Amino acid sequence: MRAAVLREYNADLSIEDVPMPECPADGVVLKVLACGVCRSDWHGWSGEHPRVKPGQIQGHEYCGEVVEAGPDSQWQVGDKLVAPFILACGTCPQCREGQQHTCFDQRLPGFIEPGAFAEYVAVPRDFNLARLPEGMSPTLAAGLGCRVTTAWHALTGRAALQGGEWLAVHGTGGIGLSAAILGRALGAHVVVVDVVQEKLDHALSLGMDAAVNAAEEDAAAKIREITGGGAHVSVEALGIPQTVNASIRCLRPLGRHVQVGMPVGHHAVQEVDMNAVYMANLALYGTRGMPSHRYPSLLGLITRGKVDMSPLIAREIPLSQAGAELAAFNGPTPPGVAVITDFTR
Ligand SMILES: [Zn+2]
Ligand SMILES: [Zn+2]
Repeated sequence: MRAAVLREYNADLSIEDVPMPECPADGVVLKVLACGVCRSDWHGWSGEHPRVKPGQIQGHEYCGEVVEAGPDSQWQVGDKLVAPFILACGTCPQCREGQQHTCFDQRLPGFIEPGAFAEYVAVPRDFNLARLPEGMSPTLAAGLGCRVTTAWHALTGRAALQGGEWLAVHGTGGIGLSAAILGRALGAHVVVVDVVQEKLDHALSLGMDAAVNAAEEDAAAKIREITGGGAHVSVEALGIPQTVNASIRCLRPLGRHVQVGMPVGHHAVQEVDMNAVYMANLALYGTRGMPSHRYPSLLGLITRGKVDMSPLIAREIPLSQAGAELAAFNGPTPPGVAVITDFTR
């Protein structure tokens, strides 16, 4: 099968003919229908992700069709499925508490085992997977493996965002834009922050209440002004020191900061304004992924037409363009995300 393989950090992915994956007893082999290109992939590609090594087939935001099912699989050939990027064990204390995204024994296709930048991907522990809803395109569903689910859990599972509250979103890449769209669907007032005016204009065109260009003004001060004292909830969706501290400082007293961006690599966030946390009685939440039992809450919202996630998708690309999309994360990016939908070239 064709796969895009990471051979050298910061170089184009190598398109290679590799062996078909073997089907796990408790899982499936999926023919990949769509796979998103995410900033977490970029962290791996640039050598900043602690666990991604050369030889890796990346890609963790996928939707696929079952072509082979193991003897203990829950699914059948022909089923179309979406997978959370964290495959939980189901039996550890965290899983038993229903917090599968914090499982002590995680399987991570695309990071430490072969992922979906390929025609086929093996997925063990397939009780983690969810059926693709009727009528939802695989391209749209690809984001349900990582960005959209993570944003949904950040807002509803961690910060408990309420309708009528102010939500600030720092960084409007894939996950930030997802959080903004979902926050608006939950009835919050949304202010977005970025340094790329085109992305701010795009967010405003989707109905966001306000936008702040952090290249031009003090984002935290501007948000406190716009919101009449600060945001109730602030999502940091990039993972660099400036946005982390702007997110904390833009909150009103008793506000909730949610760390969604991955603060690793040479931008690793070492200094957090703890005096702001102390003075304003803030709560800090980390979040990563979503327990798979929460899929129905999110899929229902989308399939009933309560929220339209399609503005998230900017480009459908062939597999051979995945490397170029990763390289594009080195600089400011245009609005929306790229999804691989053609695995033949
Ligand atoms: Zn577990
Ligand atoms: Zn991701």
